[in-house]
Amino acid sequence: MKYNYKDHSEIDPLMNEYILSVNNVEDVKEIPIQEINVFLNELEEWYAYMQLWESQDYEEDQSQEFWEHHCYVEQTTLGVAKDEPCNWCGETEGVKDAHSML
Ligand SMILES: [Zn+2]
Repeated sequence: MKYNYKDHSEIDPLMNEYILSVNNVEDVKEIPIQEINVFLNELEEWYAYMQLWESQDYEEDQSQEFWEHHCYVEQTTLGVAKDEPCNWCGETEGVKDAHSML
């Protein structure tokens, strides 16, 4: 747990302003200090989660390349993720269309 304020006076001005901006109160003292701690710690976890999620999303974007494959199982041309075998017949890009010659 990162935030563990014992008293409202421990909250620095910037954080004070932030808490006021996200809560509908005039003074942070209107919010029990424990509630502020819970709120800020949950926020911290949420940010960590979002960063993780965004970094995974980014990596996914990097590998968003496909090779075209005419699948003899599906009888259609489909896009298969680069470096991945076809879900249907197991063909890889290296042996592209070998089966379609049959
Ligand atoms: Zn296939």
